Amino acid sequence: MKQSATENDAWEQICEKCGLCCFEKIEDDDGTIFFTSTPCRYLDIVTRECKIYSRRFEIYPDCVQLTETLVREIPWLHDECGYRKNFGLRRRK
Ligand code: SF4
Repeated sequence: MKQSATENDAWEQICEKCGLCCFEKIEDDDGTIFFTSTPCRYLDIVTRECKIYSRRFEIYPDCVQLTETLVREIPWLHDECGYRKNFGLRRRK
């Protein structure tokens, strides 16, 4: 089901614009996630803003459109991500 503009705005406001999800991650054979300091080519590393935000899925199809289901399932979102904090999710140590 498609979100209304108001629902989408409310969802977008959960994002803290930290840019932590926009750095490359590496997953080893046992599923451990390692965060790297290599940013997405479209991330402005000073402002932490995406340089193509409004067209990111068109220009860079690998960019992931987060949904509540994905936030709960994907293992590579940083614990400090606003969405993870919003749902009270913590990475298992
Ligand atoms: S890590 Fe989470 S809060 Fe930070 S920019 Fe990405 S989606 Fe937004």
